[in-house]
Amino acid sequence: MKFWTFFLDLIYPKVCVNCGKELNDTYWCQSCLKKFWNPRMIQMSQTKDLSGCYTLCNYVEGIRKVIIQLKYNGRSDRRYVFPELLSDFPWWNRLESCSIAIPIPLAKKRFQQRGYNQTDLIFQEWLEKMGKKYISDGLVRTRNTETQSLLSKDERYENMRGVFHVNHGIKIEGKSVLLIDDVYTTGATMNVAAHELKRNGATTVVGLSLASGAS
Ligand SMILES: [Zn+2]
Repeated sequence: MKFWTFFLDLIYPKVCVNCGKELNDTYWCQSCLKKFWNPRMIQMSQTKDLSGCYTLCNYVEGIRKVIIQLKYNGRSDRRYVFPELLSDFPWWNRLESCSIAIPIPLAKKRFQQRGYNQTDLIFQEWLEKMGKKYISDGLVRTRNTETQSLLSKDERYENMRGVFHVNHGIKIEGKSVLLIDDVYTTGATMNVAAHELKRNGATTVVGLSLASGAS
Protein backbone atom coordinates (compact mmCIF):
# COMPACT_ATOMS: atom_id res chain seq x y z
CA MET A 1 0.00 0.00 0.00
CA LYS A 2 2.81 2.38 0.93
CA PHE A 3 4.58 1.58 -2.29
CA TRP A 4 1.41 2.10 -4.28
CA THR A 5 0.89 5.52 -2.68
CA PHE A 6 4.49 6.40 -3.46
CA PHE A 7 3.98 5.29 -7.04
CA LEU A 8 0.84 7.41 -7.39
CA ASP A 9 2.67 10.40 -5.95
CA LEU A 10 5.24 10.11 -8.72
CA ILE A 11 2.59 10.11 -11.42
CA TYR A 12 0.28 12.57 -9.75
CA PRO A 13 2.37 14.84 -7.54
CA LYS A 14 0.24 16.46 -4.88
CA VAL A 15 -0.58 19.89 -6.17
CA CYS A 16 -4.01 21.49 -5.97
CA VAL A 17 -5.92 20.06 -8.92
CA ASN A 18 -7.54 23.44 -9.50
CA CYS A 19 -4.86 26.12 -8.97
CA GLY A 20 -1.63 24.10 -9.00
CA LYS A 21 -0.51 25.18 -5.55
CA GLU A 22 1.95 22.69 -4.02
CA LEU A 23 0.43 20.67 -1.22
CA ASN A 24 1.53 17.90 1.10
CA ASP A 25 -1.20 15.36 1.38
CA THR A 26 -4.26 16.55 -0.46
CA TYR A 27 -5.46 17.37 -3.96
CA TRP A 28 -7.40 20.47 -2.96
CA CYS A 29 -6.01 23.62 -1.36
CA GLN A 30 -8.17 25.24 1.28
CA SER A 31 -8.91 28.33 -0.77
CA CYS A 32 -10.16 26.35 -3.81
CA LEU A 33 -12.05 23.91 -1.60
CA LYS A 34 -14.01 26.52 0.29
CA LYS A 35 -15.36 27.96 -2.97
CA PHE A 36 -17.44 24.84 -3.60
CA TRP A 37 -17.55 22.70 -0.44
CA ASN A 38 -21.13 22.79 0.84
CA PRO A 39 -22.45 19.44 2.11
CA ARG A 40 -26.21 19.52 2.58
CA MET A 41 -29.53 17.85 1.96
CA ILE A 42 -30.83 19.53 -1.19
CA GLN A 43 -33.96 21.53 -0.44
CA MET A 44 -37.08 20.21 -2.18
CA SER A 45 -35.33 16.93 -3.01
CA GLN A 46 -37.75 14.88 -0.90
CA THR A 47 -40.50 13.46 -3.08
CA LYS A 48 -42.88 10.52 -3.12
CA ASP A 49 -40.13 8.24 -4.42
CA LEU A 50 -36.94 9.86 -3.14
CA SER A 51 -36.28 10.34 0.57
CA GLY A 52 -34.17 13.39 -0.22
CA CYS A 53 -30.82 13.81 -1.89
CA TYR A 54 -27.58 14.77 -0.20
CA THR A 55 -24.82 16.57 -2.02
CA LEU A 56 -21.27 17.47 -1.07
CA CYS A 57 -20.48 20.50 -3.21
CA ASN A 58 -21.93 23.41 -5.09
CA TYR A 59 -21.50 22.77 -8.80
CA VAL A 60 -19.11 25.68 -9.35
CA GLU A 61 -15.39 26.48 -9.57
CA GLY A 62 -12.86 23.65 -9.20
CA ILE A 63 -15.29 20.80 -8.68
CA ARG A 64 -17.23 21.76 -11.79
CA LYS A 65 -13.98 21.88 -13.73
CA VAL A 66 -12.84 18.39 -12.72
CA ILE A 67 -16.28 16.84 -13.28
CA ILE A 68 -16.32 18.28 -16.81
CA GLN A 69 -12.79 16.96 -17.43
CA LEU A 70 -13.85 13.55 -16.18
CA LYS A 71 -17.01 13.46 -18.30
CA TYR A 72 -16.03 15.17 -21.51
CA ASN A 73 -12.23 15.18 -21.75
CA GLY A 74 -11.49 11.55 -20.93
CA ARG A 75 -9.63 12.48 -17.74
CA SER A 76 -10.38 9.28 -15.83
CA ASP A 77 -7.22 9.96 -13.77
CA ARG A 78 -9.25 12.65 -12.00
CA ARG A 79 -10.80 9.88 -9.91
CA TYR A 80 -8.01 10.41 -7.37
CA VAL A 81 -9.28 13.82 -6.30
CA PHE A 82 -12.65 12.62 -4.97
CA PRO A 83 -11.97 10.23 -2.04
CA GLU A 84 -10.71 13.01 0.23
CA LEU A 85 -13.95 14.91 -0.41
CA LEU A 86 -16.09 11.83 0.22
CA SER A 87 -14.22 11.09 3.44
CA ASP A 88 -15.21 14.55 4.73
CA PHE A 89 -18.92 14.07 4.07
CA PRO A 90 -20.40 14.57 7.56
CA TRP A 91 -23.48 12.34 7.42
CA TRP A 92 -22.38 8.83 6.44
CA ASN A 93 -24.13 7.62 9.60
CA ARG A 94 -27.47 8.71 8.13
CA LEU A 95 -26.86 6.43 5.15
CA GLU A 96 -26.04 3.34 7.18
CA SER A 97 -29.36 1.66 6.48
CA CYS A 98 -28.69 1.67 2.73
CA SER A 99 -27.08 -1.69 2.03
CA ILE A 100 -26.80 -1.26 -1.71
CA ALA A 101 -25.67 1.63 -3.88
CA ILE A 102 -26.76 2.03 -7.49
CA PRO A 103 -25.52 4.76 -9.85
CA ILE A 104 -27.51 6.62 -12.47
CA PRO A 105 -26.35 4.75 -15.58
CA LEU A 106 -25.35 6.06 -18.98
CA ALA A 107 -27.03 4.78 -22.12
CA LYS A 108 -25.02 1.96 -23.69
CA LYS A 109 -23.73 4.01 -26.59
CA ARG A 110 -22.55 6.85 -24.36
CA PHE A 111 -20.87 4.36 -22.03
CA GLN A 112 -19.01 2.83 -24.95
CA GLN A 113 -17.89 6.25 -26.21
CA ARG A 114 -16.69 7.39 -22.78
CA GLY A 115 -15.35 4.03 -21.66
CA TYR A 116 -16.68 4.46 -18.13
CA ASN A 117 -19.50 5.88 -16.08
CA GLN A 118 -17.97 8.87 -14.29
CA THR A 119 -20.23 8.23 -11.30
CA ASP A 120 -18.55 4.83 -10.79
CA LEU A 121 -15.12 6.45 -10.84
CA ILE A 122 -16.18 9.01 -8.25
CA PHE A 123 -18.02 6.72 -5.83
CA GLN A 124 -17.52 2.99 -6.31
CA GLU A 125 -14.23 2.38 -4.49
CA TRP A 126 -15.17 4.61 -1.61
CA LEU A 127 -18.63 3.13 -1.10
CA GLU A 128 -17.28 -0.40 -1.23
CA LYS A 129 -14.80 0.58 1.45
CA MET A 130 -17.78 1.87 3.43
CA GLY A 131 -19.31 -1.61 3.22
CA LYS A 132 -21.96 -0.90 0.59
CA LYS A 133 -22.69 -3.38 -2.15
CA TYR A 134 -22.13 -1.23 -5.23
CA ILE A 135 -24.13 -2.46 -8.21
CA SER A 136 -22.88 -0.47 -11.19
CA ASP A 137 -25.35 -2.12 -13.57
CA GLY A 138 -28.32 -2.17 -11.18
CA LEU A 139 -30.18 0.22 -13.46
CA VAL A 140 -30.12 0.25 -17.25
CA ARG A 141 -30.71 3.40 -19.28
CA THR A 142 -32.59 2.96 -22.51
CA ARG A 143 -31.63 6.27 -24.12
CA ASN A 144 -29.80 9.54 -23.61
CA THR A 145 -31.75 12.60 -22.58
CA GLU A 146 -29.17 15.33 -22.97
CA THR A 147 -31.39 18.06 -24.41
CA GLN A 148 -32.92 18.33 -20.92
CA SER A 149 -31.59 21.83 -20.28
CA LEU A 150 -33.87 23.23 -22.97
CA LEU A 151 -36.97 21.77 -21.37
CA SER A 152 -39.33 22.94 -18.66
CA LYS A 153 -39.64 20.92 -15.46
CA ASP A 154 -42.74 19.07 -16.64
CA GLU A 155 -41.19 18.41 -20.02
CA ARG A 156 -38.10 16.96 -18.34
CA TYR A 157 -40.19 14.38 -16.52
CA GLU A 158 -42.13 13.58 -19.68
CA ASN A 159 -38.87 13.25 -21.62
CA MET A 160 -37.53 10.79 -19.06
CA ARG A 161 -40.53 8.52 -18.81
CA GLY A 162 -39.45 4.88 -19.02
CA VAL A 163 -35.78 5.73 -19.47
CA PHE A 164 -34.55 3.51 -16.58
CA HIS A 165 -35.11 -0.16 -15.91
CA VAL A 166 -33.86 -2.39 -13.14
CA ASN A 167 -31.43 -4.85 -14.70
CA HIS A 168 -32.48 -8.48 -15.06
CA GLY A 169 -31.50 -10.58 -12.09
CA ILE A 170 -30.88 -7.65 -9.74
CA LYS A 171 -32.96 -8.02 -6.60
CA ILE A 172 -34.19 -4.69 -5.29
CA GLU A 173 -37.18 -5.90 -3.29
CA GLY A 174 -37.02 -5.04 0.40
CA LYS A 175 -33.75 -3.14 -0.02
CA SER A 176 -32.92 0.36 1.05
CA VAL A 177 -31.07 1.88 -1.90
CA LEU A 178 -28.51 4.67 -2.05
CA LEU A 179 -28.95 6.20 -5.49
CA ILE A 180 -25.79 7.88 -6.74
CA ASP A 181 -25.19 10.57 -9.35
CA ASP A 182 -22.34 12.92 -10.20
CA VAL A 183 -24.43 16.09 -10.52
CA TYR A 184 -27.96 16.75 -9.26
CA THR A 185 -29.54 19.41 -11.49
CA THR A 186 -33.33 19.55 -11.24
CA GLY A 187 -33.86 16.16 -9.66
CA ALA A 188 -35.80 14.84 -12.66
CA THR A 189 -33.24 12.12 -13.41
CA MET A 190 -32.95 10.95 -9.84
CA ASN A 191 -36.70 10.97 -9.28
CA VAL A 192 -37.44 8.92 -12.36
CA ALA A 193 -34.74 6.41 -11.33
CA ALA A 194 -36.04 6.32 -7.74
CA HIS A 195 -39.55 5.69 -9.05
CA GLU A 196 -38.31 2.68 -11.01
CA LEU A 197 -36.49 1.32 -7.92
CA LYS A 198 -39.62 1.76 -5.80
CA ARG A 199 -41.71 0.07 -8.47
CA ASN A 200 -39.36 -2.91 -8.11
CA GLY A 201 -39.87 -3.12 -4.39
CA ALA A 202 -37.18 -0.88 -2.86
CA THR A 203 -38.29 0.16 0.63
CA THR A 204 -36.52 3.51 0.56
CA VAL A 205 -34.34 5.37 -1.92
CA VAL A 206 -31.96 8.06 -0.71
CA GLY A 207 -29.95 10.16 -3.15
CA LEU A 208 -26.31 11.18 -2.98
CA SER A 209 -24.65 13.42 -5.56
CA LEU A 210 -21.18 14.86 -5.60
CA ALA A 211 -22.28 18.33 -6.65
CA SER A 212 -25.42 20.32 -7.28
CA GLY A 213 -26.47 23.71 -8.54
CA ALA A 214 -29.73 23.42 -6.59
CA SER A 215 -29.96 25.01 -3.17
ZN1 LIG B 1 -6.17 25.48 -5.16
